[in-house]
Amino acid sequence: MSNIYGVAGHPIGHSLSPVIHNMLFEYYNIDAVYEKFDIAPQDFENTMDIMWKQGVKGINVTIPHKVKALETVDCLEPFALSVRSVNTIRFDGNKTYGYNTDGIGFIKALEKAGQSVENRKIAILGAGGAVNSVAKICMLKGAENVTIFARNIEKAQIVAEKVGTSCAILNEYKNYDYDIIVNATPVGMFPNTEECVIDEIKSGVFAFDLIYNPEKTSFMKLAEKCGSKAENGLWMLIYQAFEAFKIWQGINPDEIIAEKIYKRLNEVLNEK
Ligand code: NAP
Repeated sequence: MSNIYGVAGHPIGHSLSPVIHNMLFEYYNIDAVYEKFDIAPQDFENTMDIMWKQGVKGINVTIPHKVKALETVDCLEPFALSVRSVNTIRFDGNKTYGYNTDGIGFIKALEKAGQSVENRKIAILGAGGAVNSVAKICMLKGAENVTIFARNIEKAQIVAEKVGTSCAILNEYKNYDYDIIVNATPVGMFPNTEECVIDEIKSGVFAFDLIYNPEKTSFMKLAEKCGSKAENGLWMLIYQAFEAFKIWQGINPDEIIAEKIYKRLNEVLNEK
């Protein structure tokens, strides 16, 4: 029987993770399937236990289960512990292991775009779940400084304190110097594609939108209009999945399958 992997969320219908992982299984000739599991918050812990006992090998975890997953696993890798959030579970023998691959996915996506956070000033818009990983990895990878800008300053302060960065109210970003600006809010995501969380971006910086639907977001259009380069979050999605695949299979996916997956995901997104 094929090994079973999957993604647990609520809701989960929109997830592109099965496309990525099932293409990886096929490419590397691995006898496994990757499915979506819609699990209500109150059922998460029990369902993970049942899955483990039934021989499921690994689960990706998405909204709203990332904190519950942290509390559920036996062992945590340091990054997941530091951001208090788990997006990948490995079921192994007598123990369950929790990881968070969002940060490394973000860094690899930046590298793919020819960017590095080292010695650079980073402005992050938003103070939600994704910001924890993005802000923390920027600090760990040697950013000169990281500032979290959010409409709710209390939330920004909680995240900033947790990951060791500074923070300010959203519109203050205009008074700060930055080399890379990251949109980590859902503003501009399909179907509200005309919306943008800010109205100006400095010239000559790099703008990264965590959103990947639409392919060119309002935030990216604004950056280009202001004379800056921009990229969407699709490579981040791919690379966080590749890190999970590496944890489960011990294989680092190559660039040939990466490009095939990128093309396929864009086709799927355009079909929607
Ligand atoms: P989240 O936990 O819901 O946080 C969203 C953040 O955006 C909150 O700080 C929220 O502020 C803020 N926000 C929402 N609407 C806003 C508005 N109109 N103006 C200003 N701020 C606003 O979401 P998340 O999990 O961090 O995800 C954020 C985005 O990143 C989503 O679009 C998600 O799809 C994307 N994402 C992409 C990847 C990838 O691999 N590419 C990975 C993770 C996330 P309040 O708290 O005040 O509401």
